[in-house]
Amino acid sequence: MKPAAFDYVLPSTIAEAVEALGEGNRRTQVLAGGQSLLLEMHLARIRPDLVVDINRLAGLDRIDVNGNEARVGALVRHRTFESADAVPGPLGRLLALAVVNIAHPPIRSRGTMAGSFAWAHPASEWCAIGLALDATVEVTSREGKRELAVRDYFLGPYRTERRADELITAVRLPLLGDEYGVGFIEHRRTHFCFAQVAVAAAVSVRDGVVADARIGLVNSADRPLRARAAERSLIGTELPPPGSGHPRGDHPFVRAGQIAAHEDAAPVAEPYGDVAYKRQALAVLVARTLTDADADRRSRAARKGEDR
Ligand SMILES: Cc1cc2nc3c(=O)[nH]c(=O)nc-3n(C[C@H](O)[C@H](O)[C@H](O)COP(=O)(O)OP(=O)(O)OC[C@H]3O[C@@H](n4cnc5c(N)ncnc54)[C@H](O)[C@@H]3O)c2cc1C
Repeated sequence: MKPAAFDYVLPSTIAEAVEALGEGNRRTQVLAGGQSLLLEMHLARIRPDLVVDINRLAGLDRIDVNGNEARVGALVRHRTFESADAVPGPLGRLLALAVVNIAHPPIRSRGTMAGSFAWAHPASEWCAIGLALDATVEVTSREGKRELAVRDYFLGPYRTERRADELITAVRLPLLGDEYGVGFIEHRRTHFCFAQVAVAAAVSVRDGVVADARIGLVNSADRPLRARAAERSLIGTELPPPGSGHPRGDHPFVRAGQIAAHEDAAPVAEPYGDVAYKRQALAVLVARTLTDADADRRSRAARKGEDR
């Protein structure tokens, strides 16, 4: 199907872009990577009066690392994160583990991280990671700038705190210290599908006791989710010495998986995954992702000669 007719502008400054977005009597859409928007327009599920193409805006294609944060500009494409060095430390490794699960290379070459936060698909890998890490979304409109804490940002499927006249200029992700290990595992039907469920985890351990745990859940509710109850079950818990293979029985990671699947998650049934199936997959994936994160942490500590 062809999209309905629409007007198109290609602003060269952020001020021009937000001016166009602020035309209150028109249905506007931002064109960033176009990997969700153009599909929806072709399916006539979105019919904008005006498309504001932001691809000529200077300075939005940069990642700036300031102090404890990576500020990802609105035109940074998914594929940038395929290199773990795009962002320093464990955060760069986590983003690199996750990004290869986003669609396929042509989509990753155009699609943007900020576009994912704007679109707010429940199965977005970036959104679940943003929640787990307490990210911030920077927006600008005719009225000025706002910073939206990702913790309160997602309101439902494709619904966020951002107003339609607000342009996301950047997403700020807190860096993870070297003491963190990270893991990301996704379960999907075919390589090009969105996740049935996926899990992002970052864990730090001091003297054998979990000091911090961050768990993001993908496609485990009607919006991206953070597994706070599972995190609480881990923090302050002593980990048994690592065994071989996956943890079993009453291992804290197995318990956290059960809690994430049954207390945190509120899965929505889909044609190839009913609620019970998704909960079962989540319980297993959370335990395995935490195990991977802990192994990552231990192998890095061993390389540095630390005993943690
Ligand atoms: C076959 C296929 C498979 C996919 N698989 C996955 C997947 O597994 N995981 C995943 O996360 N995504 C997946 N995607 C979506 C892809 O990641 C998109 O790139 C992403 O959702 C949106 O980014 P974009 O830059 O392409 O945004 P666009 O398509 O340009 O825009 C999407 C929406 O966000 C708004 N928007 C975009 N940027 C901004 C901004 N800076 N400020 C304000 N509003 C903005 C637009 O107005 C529009 O409503 C898939 C897409 C396809 C077609």
